[in-house]
Amino acid sequence: MKFNQAGILRDETRVRPMPAVGALRVAVGYPNTYFVAMSSLAFQWVVELTAAFDDVGVERFFTDPPLLGRTLESSSHLGDFDVLAWTCSFELDAPNILSTLDAAGIPRRSSERDHNHPIVVVGGAVASINPLPLSPAVDVFVLGSAELLWPAFLHALRGETDRGRLLETLAGMDGFFVPSLHLDSRGAPLGKRRRVEKRDAHMSDPSMVPASHVVTPHTEYSGRGLIEMSRGCPEKCRYCWVSYNYGRLRCYSTEGILERVDRLSSITKRIGFVATAVGDHPDLGEILEACRKRGLEVALSSLRIPAMRREILEPLAASGARSVTIAPETGTDRLRTSLNKPISNEAILEAVETAQTCGIENIKMYFIIGLPGETDGDLRGIADLLRKTQSLMVAHGRERGRVGSLLAGFNVLVPKPYTPYAREPMLTRREAKRRMEIVETAAAGISNLTIDRPSYRQAQWQTHLSRGDISVYGALEDAASGKTLGGLLATHRKAVDASSLYPVEGPPIWQFVVSAPVKT
Ligand code: SF4
Repeated sequence: MKFNQAGILRDETRVRPMPAVGALRVAVGYPNTYFVAMSSLAFQWVVELTAAFDDVGVERFFTDPPLLGRTLESSSHLGDFDVLAWTCSFELDAPNILSTLDAAGIPRRSSERDHNHPIVVVGGAVASINPLPLSPAVDVFVLGSAELLWPAFLHALRGETDRGRLLETLAGMDGFFVPSLHLDSRGAPLGKRRRVEKRDAHMSDPSMVPASHVVTPHTEYSGRGLIEMSRGCPEKCRYCWVSYNYGRLRCYSTEGILERVDRLSSITKRIGFVATAVGDHPDLGEILEACRKRGLEVALSSLRIPAMRREILEPLAASGARSVTIAPETGTDRLRTSLNKPISNEAILEAVETAQTCGIENIKMYFIIGLPGETDGDLRGIADLLRKTQSLMVAHGRERGRVGSLLAGFNVLVPKPYTPYAREPMLTRREAKRRMEIVETAAAGISNLTIDRPSYRQAQWQTHLSRGDISVYGALEDAASGKTLGGLLATHRKAVDASSLYPVEGPPIWQFVVSAPVKT
């Protein structure tokens, strides 16, 4: 569909104005289209934090072709801004940062830029997981919670007109990684420093609950306003970067969440609560009931299986939810326990049954193949679990006169840095194909089941970008110039295979670590 800039702006509804004019000009971007970006609460949160500064004018930019290199609000050229700040949530979007710089006529490498160019900043999960592959292109990485670090960045920017001195100041602050001052040209640490502290918000301030401030029909969530409910997770699954990065579960106060509900309900009747462990908020039932009383339709991001209880699912169904997403990850209790996720198939089926009896018909399940210790029996166990799930859904569907849909999504394990699986090998392409065939053969004949196969190449690139070092940058440059993932592998195989945050023995060459939560 053709990108209609005036129509997009006209269709947005806001809870507060966004000042496009200020002494400092900051453009906040997302390395993907408007449709994808506006579904990201992290992106919207950075825009709102920027708009809170009276003397800062903020505009947004995306990768939609007619606007690439310019902003949505005023079509201004990105080269005219003081700062370009990207929120990058997915590794595969990283090359779009370079192609956006190309479109704006700004040199890709920070070493080729000077005070005539904007300061290039990247934050979000990709920066926090591993900033090294993108480091030649970026002036400043923001590692950690936006509500702590982004205002600190803007304060530093206001107080310093000299670019070199600003970078020096930031390089000395926790949560900022400045490649030109922290790395030599080969990506090795300059000096003795090998550790950068990330900054993690305590989330105790009820006025600082991240929530959408713009609602638009042109997103995946179409008109839904999002509210963050918590960070971290009570579990510590061995493959999960989130649990090792964000630490233990911390919830926003019910008061703060309901204030955001009221703010959003002035512009939409559709609310989505997001978090890695959204079902673990102790007052979730009360919050859902409050939404029901306000006539709001509510959706939750994926639920941990123990959170699929009647007192949560009933008010959720009463608010209009018809599907729920869970992540069994694998098909047998043995392998799931070895992941440090000791949830039995029996408990999963009980959760499905509860969802069905509460009127939530459609189930999405996510699985990972290539887990350490996985056998063909574990793969057949996935099909067995899907078959039993479908039987339950058919039994409940008969009573209701309609059977819900079952979707099984698969990913290949991407070993993430700083997790216990950080040094695990990734499956070969051939082996990943063989394992998926085992699942699909065993699952043949399950009615109403849709299987969403993994993209091996995407998983491979995610692995290189999350576990690689600066040598992956050449591949990112070619990706930005339009090479396909397959072509990139052919050209850069030697460099990316050798590239690693982890030497053969000992700790990673750089440690990007989380410190104790900090009060806002
Ligand atoms: S339950 Fe989910 S978010 Fe929590 S540690 Fe496991 S995979 Fe990560």
